[in-house]
Amino acid sequence: MSDSSIPAYADTRKIFLQEGNISGTLSLDRLPRFCKSLADKNGSVSIELKFSLNNAKERLISGSLRAEVNVFCQRCLKPLAIALADDINLALVRDEEAAKQLDAEYDPWICEDHKLDLAEMVEEQLILCMPLVSYHDSGDCLSLKNYVSGAHIEEDAASSASKESPFAVLRSLKDNDSST
Ligand SMILES: [Zn+2]
Repeated sequence: MSDSSIPAYADTRKIFLQEGNISGTLSLDRLPRFCKSLADKNGSVSIELKFSLNNAKERLISGSLRAEVNVFCQRCLKPLAIALADDINLALVRDEEAAKQLDAEYDPWICEDHKLDLAEMVEEQLILCMPLVSYHDSGDCLSLKNYVSGAHIEEDAASSASKESPFAVLRSLKDNDSST
């Protein structure tokens, strides 16, 4: 459960040969790009990663991620808790050229040296599985929105219109007075 169980880097020279496993939680502080689409920094991200080599000596990273975070509801713009869950099926490659030669079942993850930044890799997977828009499930949010944008604004518009006209009339009367 401890955040310290996820190291900053994995050594790609060793971890695939050793068939290493890394699992634990990542604090949102370590995922600044992902946090930009969140309502706050309250939440949790847990990951399970398995490193292996296949027969073709491709370096595979499989596993899963789960996150519970708060985003903004696109209807009422209030925070909304969502759960994310996704499988991870990556193959580590050195460059774009190697990425093109991969089997379609793996997504390439480019790492040019032997230091694989784990938080950065997980962050990208989190961003990819985020829903484009999120809404509250309950009708509360919908009825609140109707009240705010419907009845309330129409009432405002009506009252400001009725306020404006007597002023305009007064002003034109005044103008007429001073000009005569
Ligand atoms: Zn809502």
